[in-house]
Amino acid sequence: PSGLMWFRRDLRAHDNAALAQALRSCERLHCVFVFDRAILDPLPRQDRRVEFIRDSLVQLDERLRELAATPDGGLVVLHGDAAEAIPRLAQELGVQCVFANRDDEPAALARDERVRTGLAGSGIGWRDFKDHSIFARQDLLTRAGAPYTVFTPYRNAWLAKVQAADLAPHPAAARAGVLAARPPRHRHAVPTLQDLGFRPTNLPELGVGCGWRGGAARLDAFVARIDRYHADRDFPALEATSGLSVDLRFGTVSVRELARRAYPVAQAGGAGAASWLDELIWRDFYLQILANFPRVAPPSGEHRSFKPAYDAVEWEQGPQADEAFAAWAEGRTGYPLVDAAMTQLRRTGFMHNRLRMVTASFLVKDLGIDWRRGERHFAEHLLDYDLAANNGGWQWAASTGCDAQPWFRIFNPVTQSRRFDAQGEFIRRYLPPLAGLAAPALHAPWTAPPLELAAAGITLGETYPRPIVDHEAARARTLQRYAVVRAVR
Ligand code: FAD
Repeated sequence: PSGLMWFRRDLRAHDNAALAQALRSCERLHCVFVFDRAILDPLPRQDRRVEFIRDSLVQLDERLRELAATPDGGLVVLHGDAAEAIPRLAQELGVQCVFANRDDEPAALARDERVRTGLAGSGIGWRDFKDHSIFARQDLLTRAGAPYTVFTPYRNAWLAKVQAADLAPHPAAARAGVLAARPPRHRHAVPTLQDLGFRPTNLPELGVGCGWRGGAARLDAFVARIDRYHADRDFPALEATSGLSVDLRFGTVSVRELARRAYPVAQAGGAGAASWLDELIWRDFYLQILANFPRVAPPSGEHRSFKPAYDAVEWEQGPQADEAFAAWAEGRTGYPLVDAAMTQLRRTGFMHNRLRMVTASFLVKDLGIDWRRGERHFAEHLLDYDLAANNGGWQWAASTGCDAQPWFRIFNPVTQSRRFDAQGEFIRRYLPPLAGLAAPALHAPWTAPPLELAAAGITLGETYPRPIVDHEAARARTLQRYAVVRAVR
């Protein structure tokens, strides 16, 4: 039989479940990626993710040509509505089956349903595979047969269930001649950003290597320092975390490979590897929450609090809230750690996990603004944006989520700053106007003696904002705001 391998968020040839299976079961195989207009059209014309995908496709195409052993092999890249383009291409190529890796985001499931219907109309089959996580959907259930909604028991069940087979690689073993030459009308190169209607971003300056090569380099560099992960991971000034979230998002690494590298080290007592494996398990956890409770998410889900009682919380609205939101988004709240973090997000498309927690908490619990607005802002700016992890993270910070931070626990942005950026190294990196100020004043410039501010060239309200909110007063308002939750219960 002949097949069509449709790449989506799995932009690699090695250890790719659907590709490996397609290569095993087909006599002739074509490969395709679709730049989906439904996703691309609403984006701003400069978007690091589009550039990352585009550059990753160049590497994937190269790799597929090597595997095909013909210069006419490689990837067909289309730009259009995937739900129409895939059935049309499958028909044109005369294949019997389309292969893909599963994506459990509500919009992706709806798209795949349309594709399957389109294919069925022409008698073409569809086979999809788990590739994006180690466990998914209902692989792990509680004794009562329900999905897990608390992390620790989920993690314990994950560790008890995982077998070598769950982590085994899916090698791309191409028999001679299986990867087919592309039909002449599809023999064009991967489109440029310009062809797609986008402009280049600062991704190359940021040194974020794209594609499977970038992912492999990040993985090797991280594994060499994995022992330090447990102790250092909460300090944003250090290069302690892996930076692999973008690769996990677009599949330029295999999550099985990551787990294969970490699991034995963790089993042998490595604290760094064990903590990191826990983070990969958090990722699986939120993916299964999204798959089993799609109501938590936009756009097809209802976008509700995981805990329904929390939908009764009333958020700040109106022009003042809009201005506070803008100050948060633009990094001018007057709280240096929050502002440095929001600046990092804007400039690089990345934010350290500790700072995602701090800035999310600040928006929701210091400014009283609906977590969904923050979630949307992150979704627009994060290079590693992932619906399941982002929704999970925001609902955690807002206390509306499963296994979330309790509502009465409120991060103090100054204490967080003192604890996790004690010398102010991270703050200085992103807020040059404050560079002349030393810790401890740097964590709360409005408390600094006027002479110290003057010596550092800082005029509050001019060179750097005064705090837009008083934390203690905000904390009291938040406790009141959430009191409704207690009433509902
Ligand atoms: P590492 O510390 O090296 O962790 C390894 C991997 O584990 C990460 O790449 C990621 O895939 C996974 N991981 C780590 N922490 C979490 C977590 N809390 N939840 C789920 N998976 C996790 N992560 C995203 O990938 N995309 C998002 O859109 C996203 N939005 C977030 C929003 C908020 C408000 C919060 C609090 C967290 C969010 N996270 C998100 C989780 C986490 O912050 C990032 O995964 C992490 O900072 C990425 O950096 P890293 O790859 O160096 O992580």
